[in-house]
Amino acid sequence: MDIHLSRPDVTEREIEAVCGVLRSPHLSLGPKLAQFERVFAEYIGTRRAVAVNSGTSGLFLCALALGIGPGDEVITTPFTFVASATSIMMAGARPVFVDIDPVSLNMDPAKIEAAITKKTKAVLPVEIFGNLAGLDRICEIAHKHNLPIIEDSCEALGSALDGKKAGTFGTMSVFGFYPNKQITTGEGGVILTNEDSLAEMCVSLRNQGRAKGGGWLGHERLGYNYRLSDINCALGIVQLSRIDEIKAKRRQVAEWYREMLAGDGRLIVPAEPKGCELSWFVFVVRLAEEFTGRQRDRILGQMRKRNIEVGNYFPPVHLMPFIAGPFGYKLGEFPAAESASQRTIALPFHNRLPQDDVATVCKTLKQVLDKELKD
Ligand SMILES: *Cc1c(COP(=O)(O)O)cnc(C)c1O
Repeated sequence: MDIHLSRPDVTEREIEAVCGVLRSPHLSLGPKLAQFERVFAEYIGTRRAVAVNSGTSGLFLCALALGIGPGDEVITTPFTFVASATSIMMAGARPVFVDIDPVSLNMDPAKIEAAITKKTKAVLPVEIFGNLAGLDRICEIAHKHNLPIIEDSCEALGSALDGKKAGTFGTMSVFGFYPNKQITTGEGGVILTNEDSLAEMCVSLRNQGRAKGGGWLGHERLGYNYRLSDINCALGIVQLSRIDEIKAKRRQVAEWYREMLAGDGRLIVPAEPKGCELSWFVFVVRLAEEFTGRQRDRILGQMRKRNIEVGNYFPPVHLMPFIAGPFGYKLGEFPAAESASQRTIALPFHNRLPQDDVATVCKTLKQVLDKELKD
């Protein structure tokens, strides 16, 4: 591939910080962990932050900390990265999907109440592609029904809705730091909450169920090893300190795309929604309604043949056989999610993508669309 879907942006400062940890005796559970949690909580504005080894383990620990288990249901969206739903299943509970709003691509607030049953234990909204549209209404409904919110903010670091930051809507919220996210720790995640008891439970669960002050072999519950090393945390501290610069670079790339793709009726080009400050995670265009899933897949293939890496974010989660099978979901149940899924094309998008490459991607995409409509 000549033009990559995603690339990390690591500077000498990150490399120095990581080397500093390697020269120290504290590779895990050391001062960089505490510092990363402190600066992260400060940036988002929550009381507590608990760093973990991935966004997925963060979501799973939220479910456990909230007491979610077998027989319980958690409401979420079928148009997301698989971890939003599998974290619910890891806790032994059932993911109950509600369809999405066809514009924001987030869970449709108007569809949530019909999905609430006596077994519902939480709502897990996702800020898809960094977009917070509808989060306020989703939260209102959850509050009305006394349901805790697990906010999957893994794609939305730095986004805000009416000035309220992603990560502050949920009872608990989670960010992930895989290399394609706005900031990376290599692998990693963080859980945020204002409730000390939930934070303390996550601290114990990520560290083999150890009791606070109970020593290295003082285990008081079934726990996991979901610790994030100080090496990863040192990388994350520098990355987070660069978040404004990173957001600005990504915004510039998004603007180039928006200018170059404007006015092409075959495409729905993403825009910053009203009232939402979008921290750009990916640049996902959608084909117009008349395109089929097969046409989209051919277009993806043609782009790849021309050495441009593209993605199909996201296949509908409810139709993945290991989820559809056991929970009985079928094609046609969530038409807005299914329709959006069939028509997305994630274009190369990262901090260091040059304007020339954006131009090449746009020119190639238009040629591939011409060819698809002609054949
Ligand atoms: C990235 C992401 C996660 C977490 O992914 P990890 O690879 O486990 O860090 C969870 N939910 C969504 C929506 C994501 O995009």
